[in-house]
Amino acid sequence: MRRQFIAGNWKMNGSAEQVDAFGRALVEAAPALACDLAVCVPFVYIERLKRALTGSGVAPGAQNLSDQVEPGAFTGEINGAMLADCGARYVVVGHSERRAMYGETDEIVVAKAGAALAAGLTPIVCIGESLEQREADETENVLARQIGALINGCKRETLEAMVLAYEPIWAIGTGRSATPEQAQSVHAFVRSQIADWDATIADSLPILYGGSVKPDNASALFAGADVDGALVGGASLKADSFVDIARAID
Ligand code: PEP
Repeated sequence: MRRQFIAGNWKMNGSAEQVDAFGRALVEAAPALACDLAVCVPFVYIERLKRALTGSGVAPGAQNLSDQVEPGAFTGEINGAMLADCGARYVVVGHSERRAMYGETDEIVVAKAGAALAAGLTPIVCIGESLEQREADETENVLARQIGALINGCKRETLEAMVLAYEPIWAIGTGRSATPEQAQSVHAFVRSQIADWDATIADSLPILYGGSVKPDNASALFAGADVDGALVGGASLKADSFVDIARAID
């Protein structure tokens, strides 16, 4: 039985004050929640978030890491070991904003997922199609290509350890979530693609849905048999809505 998981992605948002308030709220609310929880914040707040979350069971995470495992002359980069040093346990890899704005290819995503695992972090690897691709009936082809890149590029242990997040690009930050039927249908397709390669890994792989998840649509989305939780952007910035989404897991 796959454990349900809700991860927040603060993107480039937040402040020290917000981290502290979020931590206080989660320390109170999280012990009663039935799922695993993580919150991925800007690098500079990870250590503070870890302190603020002490006793909550909620894991701090990052939103990106270098594809380089070893330290060295990579100005401005942060590697997985440094994130782990700060207390991160998860890291988002290949978010569509990074793929679109920072040129992250499937190859870079594979390298970053491996670099995360090498540092003891769990990569939350994002995949998903654009609106144009969905409208052109290309969703399954796009996802098959992205999954194929992971299967062919990643080591087996990386695939065994990762969390996958299906995030249709048209649903991210738009207020227009996929319907529960659309989400379940894609999640089942993703799992079947992985099962064609390894049924055991496919069965245990958590596949999160991401894209305009809110307290009022969460339980319908989580009803899908292959939907194992959510990667939550905007609604993770406030502890109340993040906790309400987690409460929708039963
Ligand atoms: C995200 O950034 O990964 C995301 C899903 O954002 P939102 O929930 O705001 O659509």
